[in-house]
Amino acid sequence: MKRHIGRRCAILVLALLLAVLSPSALLYRDAVHTDAVVDLPEQKLIALTFDDGPRRSTTTRLLDGLAERGVTATFFLIGCQIADNEDVIRRMDREGHQIGIHTFDHMQLTELNQADFDAQVETTRTLLKDLLGHNDFLLRPPFGKWDEGVRTRANCPIILWSIDPEDWDDKNTARVVEQVVSQAQDGSIILLHDIYPESVDAALQIVDRLHAEGYYFCTIDQLFAARGLSLKAGQVYWNAYP
Ligand SMILES: [Zn+2]
Repeated sequence: MKRHIGRRCAILVLALLLAVLSPSALLYRDAVHTDAVVDLPEQKLIALTFDDGPRRSTTTRLLDGLAERGVTATFFLIGCQIADNEDVIRRMDREGHQIGIHTFDHMQLTELNQADFDAQVETTRTLLKDLLGHNDFLLRPPFGKWDEGVRTRANCPIILWSIDPEDWDDKNTARVVEQVVSQAQDGSIILLHDIYPESVDAALQIVDRLHAEGYYFCTIDQLFAARGLSLKAGQVYWNAYP
């Protein structure tokens, strides 16, 4: 009986060890931003996120505006746009913004086989890792489409959003600003696209309006860390409501 329990224990320990050492558990946890756990002010927190960039003209103007306001955001980048914009991405990283993967050429990730998934996500991850020297990139699947395959293969947390003003639709700065400001809550994740001049204008006006309402803008890692939540590889997140 004792030997039987001993063997069971050994199997349990082995299973736990395997769970801890599985690639998805290792990759992100080991690489978590060390600056995520900072003392954020005791106020409402909110995260701006930008998809489909970088685009030199618009992204640079956005970075200028965010820097003037002391605001950090999270950028989900397209892999095939990295090559011409390496300096822009290094600047994002240097200025405290968080960076994520939005596939190599904006491909829907559901129902892809492993090789096609890797060509979209791992290729982009490698480009970013080589450029920035760290490996802690979040994933935002194009169109917000995910399934169990995406979860299994992501190797990092999957970040969706809670406020989507569909800025790409009419590119109407005033409408986008009103929609975001009216829906803003403590813990919201806002989706915008930094490839449109109107969205850059909207983002900066949103920052000014929500600053006046007492919001503090932070990165995705910081938003969840402030709530005591550690993001896990393969999990999907829409917001960090308290
Ligand atoms: Zn997109």
